[in-house]
Amino acid sequence: MNRLANAPAPDGRDASAESSAESSAESFTDALGLYISFPFCRSKCSYCNFASNVFPPRLLDGYLACLEREMELVAEAESVGGGSVDTLYWGGGTPSLLAPDLALRLAQAIRRIWTPAPEAEFTLEAAPGTLSTAHIAAWRAAGVNRVSLGMQSWQEAEIRSVGRLHRAEDVTRDLEALRRAGLENLNLDLIAGLPHQTEASWRDTLARTLDAAPPHISIYMLEVDEDSRLGRELLAGGARYHAHAVPDDDRTADFFELAVEQLAAAGWRQYEISNFARDGGESRHNLRYWARRPYLGFGLEAHSMLRRDGEERRWANPAELKEYMAALEAGRLARGEVEALSPQRQLEEALFLGLRRNAGIGWDELTAEFKAGAVEAKRAAITPMLAQGMLEESQGRLRLTPRGRMLSTSVLAELLE
Ligand code: SF4
Repeated sequence: MNRLANAPAPDGRDASAESSAESSAESFTDALGLYISFPFCRSKCSYCNFASNVFPPRLLDGYLACLEREMELVAEAESVGGGSVDTLYWGGGTPSLLAPDLALRLAQAIRRIWTPAPEAEFTLEAAPGTLSTAHIAAWRAAGVNRVSLGMQSWQEAEIRSVGRLHRAEDVTRDLEALRRAGLENLNLDLIAGLPHQTEASWRDTLARTLDAAPPHISIYMLEVDEDSRLGRELLAGGARYHAHAVPDDDRTADFFELAVEQLAAAGWRQYEISNFARDGGESRHNLRYWARRPYLGFGLEAHSMLRRDGEERRWANPAELKEYMAALEAGRLARGEVEALSPQRQLEEALFLGLRRNAGIGWDELTAEFKAGAVEAKRAAITPMLAQGMLEESQGRLRLTPRGRMLSTSVLAELLE
């Protein structure tokens, strides 16, 4: 699963000119982005801290019915039916497990309510080794034009150690099959800091990824928290789940820095903390989040945000499948409390999300939207971070420095009061 596509809440993760892709994202205006969560997986990866799981297949039909019901209810409750959609993202989980006929059913359900814009970006996350010709044909028929492969590494030992089921050769075969079908807009996900990763194995993974030449590459550093088996084991100092073979934080940071260097040298521009693209391959769906454009999320643990007349409202679905399905089966929305963000909170989020992008955020953008006094107060509050070398300012734009980007979780968290 892509850590960004599920509408990240601001809970904490070289200066370059703003890219044309980012500018085009700014012109998304009122069109919506949709995120559909498909939380079914073949195995539970040891590092996974999402609500996805190996749920019984018998729940699948009911889950799809809940998704369809939820889309109808949200469209009615928020008066957003009939509008245009310019980014659509099926994440999870493993949406590539969805049978071809069910993928088409879901796409039709979406089209009954919304109209995809002519150039809409439609991404589907796929686990290597789960793609068949019939799957790919169904995705094309459904409108999918971008596929993100959750490969994480080219090294068998690393892939196995975290419980993923594919083989490295599956990735090569899948890339060929996707390209044969005309799907060229591809992303490969990598993780720095996997168990058994060494500098040599990481260099090899980077080299083979560059050889595969996808327009987009995402690289995450292994997250260590209480929400995954491996994270809990590492925090407890244990050795299970190959925790003993996880590189320490400094080595993981070194691996990440090496990736940034190598990708830049090969022409993949880092446009966000974890995301790299060439040839206009930026993820327009993820750009939407950082630009605070409206999105609706459906399914387990999905997040939504709508902005109208200066008001910004957010909500999230539960992370428990039973709770999510029980609400929809009873004809109710499953979402938790709808939060209306104060102007101060919106300003903090604009900074928090804008700084994720290498292009940063302009003070003029902030003063155009927020009261000058509030922006000035924020500017004064972040001055120490400029002095500490975490942030830099030039030509009226504020950006993370390369060091600030490496420590982005703590730096960005400080922006939220
Ligand atoms: S495939 Fe993705 S969502 Fe599923 S368990 Fe692994 S990391 Fe989590």
